[in-house]
Amino acid sequence: MSKQIQPVRGMNDVLPADIGAWQHLERIARGVFESYGYAELRVPIVEHTELFKRSIGEYTDIVEKEMYTFQDLGGDSLTLRPEATAGIARAAISNGMLRGARHKLWCLGPMFRHERPQKGRYRQFYQFDLEALGFPGPDVDVELIALTARLWRALQLTRVRLTINSLGTSEARANYRTQLQAYLRAHQGGLDEDSRRRLDGNPLRILDSKQPAMRALIEGAPLLSDYLDPESQAHFAALRAGLDALGVAYEVNPRLVRGLDYYSRTVFEWVTDALGAQDAVCSGGRYDGLITQLGGEPTAAVGFAMGVERVVELLLQAGSVPPAAAPEIYIVVNGERAEREAPRLAEQLRDALPGRGVLLNLGGGNFKTQFRRADRSGARLALILGDSELDRGVAAVKPLRREDGQIDCPLSELPARIASLL
Ligand code: ATP
Ligand code: MG
Repeated sequence: MSKQIQPVRGMNDVLPADIGAWQHLERIARGVFESYGYAELRVPIVEHTELFKRSIGEYTDIVEKEMYTFQDLGGDSLTLRPEATAGIARAAISNGMLRGARHKLWCLGPMFRHERPQKGRYRQFYQFDLEALGFPGPDVDVELIALTARLWRALQLTRVRLTINSLGTSEARANYRTQLQAYLRAHQGGLDEDSRRRLDGNPLRILDSKQPAMRALIEGAPLLSDYLDPESQAHFAALRAGLDALGVAYEVNPRLVRGLDYYSRTVFEWVTDALGAQDAVCSGGRYDGLITQLGGEPTAAVGFAMGVERVVELLLQAGSVPPAAAPEIYIVVNGERAEREAPRLAEQLRDALPGRGVLLNLGGGNFKTQFRRADRSGARLALILGDSELDRGVAAVKPLRREDGQIDCPLSELPARIASLL
């Protein structure tokens, strides 16, 4: 036997046994997104490396050490997308979608980050991504957050809570950055290696550090909220008032800065206490400067990304996944002529009963084997087609989940009879 090929570490198969929760989430999410006027778009999984460097920022975990970057046969440096916002912004620019127009867009697909795999943290993982382009907010920020709150309700998920913050304009941040750098330099001894490296390039990211040893140091740092410009203050106040008016509960976390460089003003994160260390399920914010940074015309924008695996895990834990649909009819076949006739009968039933699951016994087998398969399939009815039934122009119908006996039914009346039994 030749050696088995292993899956790539941190990249998972979603097996049929688990797909129900994914499909349930996708169905509910699609409905919620569409009810707020978001339209689906699909962008490539691979983009020029430059796109991510310019948008996410050089001094971020993602760009520094998590990207799957390679040279293609034409010599271009390409990267498997680590997130979707950059690609969606790129698509809006390359397709001439902006020009003062407004768009609400959503996207679902796999992202790739070379992180240390653990529960809830994978190297290929899926995200829902929503982006509203051309809306300065804060009304759209409120609506976007209300949409996420509605999604949790529709999914019957309760163990999630919302934290919000404002990062102000880039000028306000530059101002704050100087103060923060001074504070962090004065406490350099307490910083870990990553943070020391970021001190010059991206000191705000240090606030995002999850190192327990640095917690006290971070708690003592100056607060960005004390440096906000008046417009951002007003924007943030309106965001809070909008959420209050809708009854969406939140907590203001002045240390929430988010890992990516392109955010401005609103940032938010939904966290859960049900998944251990991987507690972020949905994170987003406003990124008014990103599209200009990528060569597009100035366009206000806000969006979020939601980790599908983490939400699926919450759904499984909460037991709020509807059971998978079983096939409804299993056709048991006995005899040579019946073997030849059965496929045609199965096709006729699929024509007459669209949307019903019709399984035809494949690969022969005696009655006992076929009934065992019928039982395992979860089907509610067995149809028995044998040569003797064929001679009489009937099939036998036998309920599998009730005690009722088997009855003969003329082939021409089968669809109506089955429909009345299901
Ligand atoms: P974390 O703090 O968990 O690293 P993040 O801030 O890097 O998250 P984002 O880049 O904002 O996350 O991505 C949005 C969402 O995608 C996260 O809230 C999380 O649910 C999910 N996510 C991020 N990285 C991973 C991963 N490696 N595996 C699974 N899900 C992930
Ligand atoms: Mg991360």
